[in-house]
Amino acid sequence: MDTSKEYAEELDRQDPLSHFRNEFYIQEGTLYMDGNSLGLLSKRAEKSVFRILDSWKQLGIDGWSKGEHPWYYLSEQLGEQVAGLIGGEDDEVIVTGSTTVNLHQLASTFYQPKGNRTKILADELNFPSDIYALKSQLELKGYNPEDHFIQVTSRDGREIKEEDIIEAMTEDVALIVLPTVLYRSGQLLDIKRLTDEAHKRGILIGFDGCHSVGVVPHHFHEWDVDFAYWCHYKYVNSGPGGVGGLFVHERHLGQKPGLSGWFGSDKEKQFDMNHSFEPAQTAGAFQIGTPHLLSVAPLIGSLELFHEAGIEQIREKSLTSTKYMMDLLQSKLEGYEFTIGNPMEDERRGGHVCLEHKEAARICKALKDKGVIPDFRSPNVIRLAPIAFYTSYVEVWETIQILEDIMEQKLYEKYENKRGVIA
Ligand SMILES: *Cc1c(COP(=O)(O)O)cnc(C)c1O
Repeated sequence: MDTSKEYAEELDRQDPLSHFRNEFYIQEGTLYMDGNSLGLLSKRAEKSVFRILDSWKQLGIDGWSKGEHPWYYLSEQLGEQVAGLIGGEDDEVIVTGSTTVNLHQLASTFYQPKGNRTKILADELNFPSDIYALKSQLELKGYNPEDHFIQVTSRDGREIKEEDIIEAMTEDVALIVLPTVLYRSGQLLDIKRLTDEAHKRGILIGFDGCHSVGVVPHHFHEWDVDFAYWCHYKYVNSGPGGVGGLFVHERHLGQKPGLSGWFGSDKEKQFDMNHSFEPAQTAGAFQIGTPHLLSVAPLIGSLELFHEAGIEQIREKSLTSTKYMMDLLQSKLEGYEFTIGNPMEDERRGGHVCLEHKEAARICKALKDKGVIPDFRSPNVIRLAPIAFYTSYVEVWETIQILEDIMEQKLYEKYENKRGVIA
């Protein structure tokens, strides 16, 4: 392995996506490795926010039907564009809500306990919000999560084995909800295999795409996934609290959503103001109320960049730069008791490197003081995500160089090994 900075510079020269870096606001003197938690602001996203503000300024109420992006149709239009990132048909994707709200919507629609088939199957490593939502959905239907919520366990605390999930797909399971990529270890599950196995057993299956949408291409339609939901503020760079998205396979379209609201109406009939709800025949039916236009706005500009770069090319660079980072870690940080916690195979990992160390909390603080923005996940994980659009190979090299200095000089010992309120 060539660990020289010149090699990193050469990789940057060969990078077909390198020009996208100028599209983003990058703080001087920082190495931003946290785009998997909150993507950076692009100039296009900023511009589209101003354009939406401008349409409000100029058009008032007429902004719903006039202007460059009539607000009434925007969620559907953006859904068609996001469909390209996740492999959905145009009608199957809508930009709406947030991750957790969308999960509530989809679980309340697709969790239909019948006879002995009453349980929900999940895993023990998913993000807490998904777990809270699923347990509350069980309770709403009168079941006790104690005996109706099954969480597949991990053998090593990092990964969930597909075969363990399949073994747990028993006759009493009504619904399965899993992450595409595990937020801590970065493991990418075999979505097609799990979907096939679930369907063989007559079980519906949905996926949380928060940690993969915008960095890993999916084929949800082709793979026959029943539903999926995700945020856009991580790899899609649409801003803190930016509006999320959901996918519902076309064979389920036309059915009444669990949580109905007027923005789920057939758009031609919504303003008839009838008291009998007529849902749209598209994934738009799963919207509830008025779209949060100001939090949708950055997505317009951000998606232009995805359209120009192409998700396959983004995945390719992401894999190359995470691999480069791991190679540097293995060459330069041997002997400092780090463990790479993510799977090593390309087809089994997402967009971030999961670095484990017993002093992770203080190492993260030391990194931050040196201008590297990492992301700490209790108790021992440092997540580092080079982002295809805006992280150069030289920045990856510099990050590992700084980490090496911190370890060599034991600079982390100055800090408390304790997480902050937000970590
Ligand atoms: C980021 C993330 C969430 C956050 O949910 P919000 O409703 O957007 O706050 C939920 N689940 C997973 C897996 C995530 O990665």
